Amino acid sequence: MHGRFLRDGLNGYDEARKVWNLAYDRHPLAMARCADIDDVRRCVDFARRHSIPVSVRGGGHSYAGFGVADAALQVDLGAFTAVSVDRDRRSASVGGGVRIRDLLAATLAVGLVTPMGSCGAVGVAGLALAGGDTSGRGLFGTACDNILGAQLVTADGDVLELGPHRNEDLFWAIRGGGGNFGVVTRLDFRLYPVLTSHNAQFDLGWSDIGGAIRIFGDLVRETPDEVRAVFEVGAQTGASASCGYLGDAAAAAAYLETWKASFRRVEAKMSTSKPNPEGEVWATTSVAVDGAFLERVSDEAADVLGRAALAGRGFGEILMGLSSGVAARIGMTDTAYPLRGTGLSVLLSSEWTRPEDRARAERWVAEYGAALRPWARGAYVNYIPPSPPERIREIYGVNYPRLARIKARYDPANLFRSNQNILPEAHS
Ligand SMILES: Cc1cc2nc3c(=O)[nH]c(=O)nc-3n(C[C@H](O)[C@H](O)[C@H](O)COP(=O)(O)OP(=O)(O)OC[C@H]3O[C@@H](n4cnc5c(N)ncnc54)[C@H](O)[C@@H]3O)c2cc1C
Repeated sequence: MHGRFLRDGLNGYDEARKVWNLAYDRHPLAMARCADIDDVRRCVDFARRHSIPVSVRGGGHSYAGFGVADAALQVDLGAFTAVSVDRDRRSASVGGGVRIRDLLAATLAVGLVTPMGSCGAVGVAGLALAGGDTSGRGLFGTACDNILGAQLVTADGDVLELGPHRNEDLFWAIRGGGGNFGVVTRLDFRLYPVLTSHNAQFDLGWSDIGGAIRIFGDLVRETPDEVRAVFEVGAQTGASASCGYLGDAAAAAAYLETWKASFRRVEAKMSTSKPNPEGEVWATTSVAVDGAFLERVSDEAADVLGRAALAGRGFGEILMGLSSGVAARIGMTDTAYPLRGTGLSVLLSSEWTRPEDRARAERWVAEYGAALRPWARGAYVNYIPPSPPERIREIYGVNYPRLARIKARYDPANLFRSNQNILPEAHS
């Protein structure tokens, strides 16, 4: 290899196998910090010949810890950090290990942006291949909707170019199907002009959170494409609702009046913002998560979330973000990403630092994640714990059979299984 190869027992092994979510203390057979595509191919060839599963590490921020796996060979793309921006074509190409902050810093330098997540340290590929819970998706679609092309190393060690007219089946599958189909060494994204977001935030505290969630649900049932909306419950601070309107200041001011009227019991905090490459970076931690995608906030779902908030006071967090507009209108089968139609992506998370708090965190997330499921249509695969095949099949819904066929064609031995796994057709 041109890059570094670390086997179990060698110096640096224990440090290198750590991922962002410290809850996952996994022991790979070896970790290969690949320097180039030849290294990636060599690792995949070796793993296939010896039937060793491969885990792919991009930005290392998987909530489920998928960047590292027991008894697997880790393909670490931490050195794939190249970013190039074509201002005239409004596109950017990034290596498979690039973080959001590096992509955004490069595109913002020429006044352009593509929808990404809120934490600058998260890997672009890990986020975009799973779909993306992103800001600006109402106007521009979500992260996977803006992938123009990609380069993929398959389980056979082939290097393929993917795009609208090149390996179309794989191009369809990687837009939502996660890391199931190979190692993505490059992704190309469409870019847009930067817009100012005009924001109103309502800090609602701990009283009647279920009621506040119902109001929020009514407000976001139909929105202009310019609107971004989030309902959050902080473990210490309680509930807050926020709305951002992208673009025209006068239109924003008029629209935000509806929100002020609905949440009149508190004063709105007004601000403006532009995309920030760092976003809100979360320090490495141990965290349990579960997710749900709600097509609308039913009374039952609002009750569950209200109860979850109170039961988790002090240790549980809820984040619920609107998916609407362009991201919602793209057809269910146009890409593998299944969260189409207007809806709210819910993330329940609970962190701990003392080992004795782990069980409480996991219990809270599991209990309220399960309680939400009857009112949900699937979940965002990046917001759930490592999950059994039945849950993954249910989440991908009508897209699952096609995904399973493509998986059987390109990865029949399921080498790439450290992910929310799509089983090759014969096994599914
Ligand atoms: C603090 C924090 C904030 C977050 N905020 C958001 C958000 O705002 N929006 C959102 O949508 N998500 C968000 N997420 C979830 C995030 O999208 C996932 O955790 C994602 O898996 C992180 O990707 P990564 O490359 O950093 O992770 P890694 O652990 O490196 O990779 C996770 C998995 O993704 C796949 N993968 C990654 N890179 C490649 C590649 N180059 N080729 C093939 N497969 C690959 C592999 O299956 C890999 O195992 C957040 C997560 C954290 C921890």
